[in-house]
Amino acid sequence: MGMFSQERCLICHEEMVASATWRGVFLGEEVTGCCSRCLSKLEAIGGETCRICGRELDSNFCKEDLCLDCVRWEEDGDWAGMLDSNISLFHYNDFLRETIARYKFRGDYVLARVFAEKIEEVLRKVPHDYLVPIPLSEERLYERGFNQSEALILEAGREATLLLARIHSEKQSKKSRKDRIHLPQVFTLGRNEELTGKTIMLVDDIYTTGSTIRHAAKILKGAGAARIHSVTIAR
Ligand SMILES: [Zn+2]
Ligand SMILES: [Zn+2]
Repeated sequence: MGMFSQERCLICHEEMVASATWRGVFLGEEVTGCCSRCLSKLEAIGGETCRICGRELDSNFCKEDLCLDCVRWEEDGDWAGMLDSNISLFHYNDFLRETIARYKFRGDYVLARVFAEKIEEVLRKVPHDYLVPIPLSEERLYERGFNQSEALILEAGREATLLLARIHSEKQSKKSRKDRIHLPQVFTLGRNEELTGKTIMLVDDIYTTGSTIRHAAKILKGAGAARIHSVTIAR
């Protein structure tokens, strides 16, 4: 942490006496670079979670250890087994929605630092050969100046391997889940790498329907990867 982050909260930019730690939100005491007020607005995902997508299990929306969304994906022959597991850190509440919007659309790269420590914790727990950010389209990358998923990896002190590239622009967010599942592949292999038997960890900011992550997983499994895991800030 640089001096600057000790003075102003990375999220709200208010001056602060000392950076809050993650204790209380998670076990551990890493310094976050944000103030305790902001930290208290983040809701960690915990308790019993879906074996695949990592959402908190709701007894009305699950079958054994899977949520019904994942049951649906796993019943679809084209998608079964593509994603091995996802871990998401926080509920996508209003506060996190605003925070991520600022991070993405205003090009606030420094926010990656707030989450990097928690991302790094997941990366230590889940062994992998490649750490792959979900790519932005060329247009989006140009608009924003950086890929927020890649920023998370770099701020976690890790190396990002750009195995994927976008083949369509991401105008999908308004479509229903059903439409999205059946959309054509949005990714392609971005570089040639021997993937046979490899374990890949995908990094993205938000897990919504799981469609983006599964499209990425499908390409990588098609190229020989054995296991696909993912980590996202929110869901
Ligand atoms: Zn703050
Ligand atoms: Zn699930």
